[in-house]
Amino acid sequence: MRESSPFRGVHGHAQAQTMLARAIDRGRLHHGLVLSGPAGVGKSRLALALARALLCETQPGRGCGECTICRRIGEGRHTDVAWLRGEGKSGRVRVQAAREVIASTQGAPFEGRAHLVLIDPADRMMDQAANALLKTFEEPRPGVHYVLLTENPGDLLPTVRSRCTSIALGPLDPEDLRAAVDAAVDQREIEVEPATLRTALELADGRPGRALELIEDPSLPALRQLLREVLRASGAQARAQLYSGDGGALWASWKEAVTTSVDPELLPAPEAEPAVIKGGRASKKKRKSKAKAPPVWGTPFQQRRTLARLTELWLVHLRQRMRGAAGLVEDTNTLAPDDFVRQVRVVQGLESSIVRNPNVRLALEQAIATAAGSLPA
Ligand SMILES: [Zn+2]
Repeated sequence: MRESSPFRGVHGHAQAQTMLARAIDRGRLHHGLVLSGPAGVGKSRLALALARALLCETQPGRGCGECTICRRIGEGRHTDVAWLRGEGKSGRVRVQAAREVIASTQGAPFEGRAHLVLIDPADRMMDQAANALLKTFEEPRPGVHYVLLTENPGDLLPTVRSRCTSIALGPLDPEDLRAAVDAAVDQREIEVEPATLRTALELADGRPGRALELIEDPSLPALRQLLREVLRASGAQARAQLYSGDGGALWASWKEAVTTSVDPELLPAPEAEPAVIKGGRASKKKRKSKAKAPPVWGTPFQQRRTLARLTELWLVHLRQRMRGAAGLVEDTNTLAPDDFVRQVRVVQGLESSIVRNPNVRLALEQAIATAAGSLPA
């Protein structure tokens, strides 16, 4: 972490941190804040740091990160910090949950000096929930702060957005990204292969949450192997590799990458749904009791996900090679500048076709043949 970060444990987002810390120091923190930015960029982390800064008694205005209050906030167990989250298949923030949380902020805070309500994703609030929130904005109560987290600030009701202070969080620079990921890896005590870490950082686009998701993705080593085979197949022996059948190295690595990737449908059902909000009713509805047996070549979800990840890796690899770097995996292909451009186009085309293409394996096969020059681009 750089010297300038006011909040403990938050890497990057220096401007946002400074602005929030100053507002707290002056006692002028707005009652409605919108934290926007892409998934995994650190919106929740910053929102929790803000909660610690407001409630910590060891380091008021900053948050020590170590006292009981700070720890309970991090674990989601502080009574004055309520999360309002999307529920069920629709992922909507329901009006009943919103009303209960709003009602809970009407009295004095239970423990600390302030009430915080964190709404995630705020753009998925049902209209009635948003309207209930608007009413509270008309007569803001001192010490009550709503933090709206969203990837799509444009999807918030304009009336809600106009009553909030908006803070946009952009990607971290490589130094902050590395620091954020290192800290999280240490904290979670996970062992990471250097190659996996490097790949995750390359693919993360400045989003530490995305890097961690990749690090913990059990299919990442298989994806790297798949990329190796795909590059080999798009080189000189394209046809031999491509049409070597299911047992050939290319499709064996495809199968490995597909079947090691996670499909939420295949996960065993939990005992019961976790409670979503403080004070709210925990849903007792059981999920499907039995996990389905996975198909031998993976589920359609796993296939799409694998192809999506592969195209990401492939594009990063090609861009690195174009810059004269070694790339993500060893690659003996020698490509002229025109070949690079053609291959990037092929992979981009493949990436955009994943959603509408019912046969992802065939799409991959055609893309490799086109990249190798066996098919017209
Ligand atoms: Zn503390």
